[in-house]
Amino acid sequence: MGREPLKIPLGRFAPSPTGPLHLGSLLAAVGSYLDARAAGARWLVRIEDLDIPRVVPGCADEMLRTLETFGFEWDGEVLYQSTRRAAYRDALAELTTAGRTFRCSCSRKDLAADDDAGGYPGTCRNGPTRTGPTAVRFRVSDAPVRFDDMIQGPQTFDLSACGDVVVERRDGLASYQLAVVVDDAFQHVTRVVRGADLLSSTPWQIDLQRALSLPQPSYGHLPLLLEPDGAKLSKSRRSLPLDMSAVPQTLFSTLTHLSQTPPPELAHSSIKEVWKWAIRHWDPRALVGKASVYLSA
Ligand SMILES: [Zn+2]
Repeated sequence: MGREPLKIPLGRFAPSPTGPLHLGSLLAAVGSYLDARAAGARWLVRIEDLDIPRVVPGCADEMLRTLETFGFEWDGEVLYQSTRRAAYRDALAELTTAGRTFRCSCSRKDLAADDDAGGYPGTCRNGPTRTGPTAVRFRVSDAPVRFDDMIQGPQTFDLSACGDVVVERRDGLASYQLAVVVDDAFQHVTRVVRGADLLSSTPWQIDLQRALSLPQPSYGHLPLLLEPDGAKLSKSRRSLPLDMSAVPQTLFSTLTHLSQTPPPELAHSSIKEVWKWAIRHWDPRALVGKASVYLSA
């Protein structure tokens, strides 16, 4: 039997330019960067600017400048999803040829009214129930999806409970789930380290990878950064750009939010020194099983 092809480890950070990088997105960037660099992997930045109605002009450039100021060094060119529409169309055509898609005429309101079980109830599996604009949904597999998350541990998801996911929106844009799967494969990503808010997207992405015969990367979902009282990061905190005058201190506190234990004097070192320490001492075991961490009051 042939051996597995040699996989060059590769991680990525894939922000949406819909608002400035904030403490929560910085935590995801730092976690994925440390995971990659400590493993000797390459690390890419991908701008997920596909959701045109929500993209803020100038935001992507500002994000890249912020990453640079924080001392991130990415490999190769930045990939913009807005340049990748042909690839998403090809993937959609492949799913359709395989009989894995159907048109869905349900509005957001229809689905909200249905029940609060969450997943799509399959209303249009045999064809749209009314005329007018339609989205395209991916018919999920019956078998459960199991994977071993590098941080959250073994996971099992019942896809029929997750429901058939949208792969092309009513406005004709490829959905987030389809674009991520196509681009992770295109960029040869082997390690997806991102926030735990995306854990529930992973079963769909794995099912899409299987349907498109694409390789499955390893997944690690970082704990979500919450307010000191356990509430979701406040809107004001999420819309506030990061403080560029206190970069080493912010990196230092992000390391502590990632359950790392930097020596106190590191908070007053250069950005270079902080990264050097962080890459050398990166210990993801300290995060195992943590779904959330809290900002200090
Ligand atoms: Zn429907």
